[in-house]
Amino acid sequence: MQHSVSIKDLSLNFGNVKVLQHLDLDIGQGEFIVLLGPSGCGKSTLLNCIAGLLDVSEGQIFIGGKNVTWEEPKDRGIGMVFQSYALYPQMSVERNLSFGLRVSGMKKDEIEKRVSRAAEILQIGPLLQRKPANLSGGQRQRVAIGRALVRDVDVFLFDEPLSNLDAKLRSDLRVEIKRLHQRLKNTMIYVTHDQIEALTLADRIAVMKGGVIQQLDTPHVIYNRPVNLYVAGFIGSPS
Ligand code: ADP
Ligand code: MG
Repeated sequence: MQHSVSIKDLSLNFGNVKVLQHLDLDIGQGEFIVLLGPSGCGKSTLLNCIAGLLDVSEGQIFIGGKNVTWEEPKDRGIGMVFQSYALYPQMSVERNLSFGLRVSGMKKDEIEKRVSRAAEILQIGPLLQRKPANLSGGQRQRVAIGRALVRDVDVFLFDEPLSNLDAKLRSDLRVEIKRLHQRLKNTMIYVTHDQIEALTLADRIAVMKGGVIQQLDTPHVIYNRPVNLYVAGFIGSPS
């Protein structure tokens, strides 16, 4: 079977510090994988390696069967959503969504089609002419998701996209991300330190500690049969 994303014997060192250690991870087409673990365990580093924002020290990354270990981020077929929204402050929402497509030289009517589809899916149609400063945190994060959506990529990467939001918005947007996945059926790799997010969103959860995956399984199995005290303690403690 061809995997959507395959990570083979991946290691990353910052100087002498081994941040990721011989990681292997195979992700199926359309699977929602959550990387879960406490701050500093290497979740963002792993995501940034997959995105091509960091060079690996050792190992290989395959996306759609292609070895992308040394490909540019823009050539990997991924879209990334960060914790901080990283929108262009001087551009309207419409411009924020279309900018990358314009730069790539896409035809105007195709750009319009994609922007209106993303606006419809994320329910941000009425906001298209606003600037980011005039949006709420939740609305900004929808626009950030929209920027990945218009690119029509196979793989979405999320790095703690809800961490800056208050509890109510966090649960609303969590439901929406789940709905988005059910509609698009693309592969999603989602980083969080929040057990509830992981248990409610994931098809499978990879619980990480010190740059190593401790357990990779469904929420049901992780919750009911943690492989060790670390996993049990982390899943059982409130976030
Ligand atoms: P997480 O996202 O799980 O909180 P990170 O992937 O950000 O963890 O960080 C993993 C480890 O790597 C941490 O110990 C962090 O201090 C270290 N680290 C992250 N980025 C750098 C960097 N640019 N240089 C040196 N160490 C780093
Ligand atoms: Mg992080």
